[in-house]
Amino acid sequence: MEPSFFDDEMLDDIQEANLKVNLALHKNERMLNLDFHLFGKAKCVCDRCGDDVWLDIDSNHNLIARFAQETNMTDDEVIFLSPAEYQLDIRQFIFEYTLLSLPVKKVHPKGECNDQVLEYLTQKSDDEIETTETDPRWEALGKLNKNA
Ligand SMILES: [Zn+2]
Repeated sequence: MEPSFFDDEMLDDIQEANLKVNLALHKNERMLNLDFHLFGKAKCVCDRCGDDVWLDIDSNHNLIARFAQETNMTDDEVIFLSPAEYQLDIRQFIFEYTLLSLPVKKVHPKGECNDQVLEYLTQKSDDEIETTETDPRWEALGKLNKNA
């Protein structure tokens, strides 16, 4: 798939993708049955360190297209096509399926994050904790709570 495929879409999660889509199409009088197999890699931003991370994608999705009076493609599992349709744009489904294939936590494998960023983040949170602990106002509040 062309890298530019994802450019024109408003997709924050995916910056770039290198994907292959196998589509098996079964057709009978009343419906089309489309089996998608997506595999490849998508480039996202790591939730932990903020660097780019390539995530593996390998997933299957099934789409049924029934013939009906009017075209309706709002559902991602069953869509309706009017008899006047002679072609089906599957781009939106590939986008959706790709997004669905991404893990909830988009992070590098353990130990492969950007060390410098992680070090900075750790130092920062340590500092914050320290200030909170030594802040006399909090100590006073703590005492108040104990007395109450
Ligand atoms: Zn990372």
